[in-house]
Amino acid sequence: MLRPDTFKDYGPNGLQVAGRAELRRVVSGVTASLAFIDAAIAAGADALLVHHGLFWRGQDGRLTGWLGERVRRLMRADVNLFAYHLPLDAHAEFGNNAQLGRRLGLVADARFGDQQLGFIGDAAALRTLAALVAAVEQGVTGPGRAVTVVPGDGRPLARIAWCTGGAQGFFEDAIAAGADAFVTGEISEPQAHLARETGVAFIAAGHHATECFGAPAVAAAACAALGLEHRFIEIPNPA
Ligand SMILES: [Zn+2]
Repeated sequence: MLRPDTFKDYGPNGLQVAGRAELRRVVSGVTASLAFIDAAIAAGADALLVHHGLFWRGQDGRLTGWLGERVRRLMRADVNLFAYHLPLDAHAEFGNNAQLGRRLGLVADARFGDQQLGFIGDAAALRTLAALVAAVEQGVTGPGRAVTVVPGDGRPLARIAWCTGGAQGFFEDAIAAGADAFVTGEISEPQAHLARETGVAFIAAGHHATECFGAPAVAAAACAALGLEHRFIEIPNPA
């Protein structure tokens, strides 16, 4: 379904920790944090499916400290850990980007950026920045969470681009692809200037907040196809 073989990623996609061979219950989540691992084991999971797994390029690979503790909990409980990073962002129906678009009422008609991970489509009902921000607050971040907005030049929105998580580096590609506004998880210093100088609005709605939807959508579809139980466990994260 996710075709991990077609992506160049920052870590291994698929089974990262092998546990028991027979599966009945799958618990999905955003990140394989200790809190999530413990909650999933307590919920009777045979397998965990997450967007952010345990192993990333540049790590030294030693199973000590916090990383060793996460692996120890998984192996002691004999549960499996599946992680899908970029393939889970990119999937056209169940991925983080597609699911974020759904919550905003946006459908991509084109892709842009590295490995075609960026989504862009018609602004549909969201013709102003105020309407877009309201949709983000209503459908993605929920009440009580600040969304960082750098307004552009106030133009009406015809095309909106988006990419979940830490995709602030995609902003220039989004501008080149014709976006009037760009929605992602995080902002870094340069994007504020780019927004002001190009007139394209930039919205950072939170890395975690924008990536809560892909893992449960993928896991639910896979579990339905395989006749497995599934539930999503949210571990709140201010990021
Ligand atoms: Zn992420």
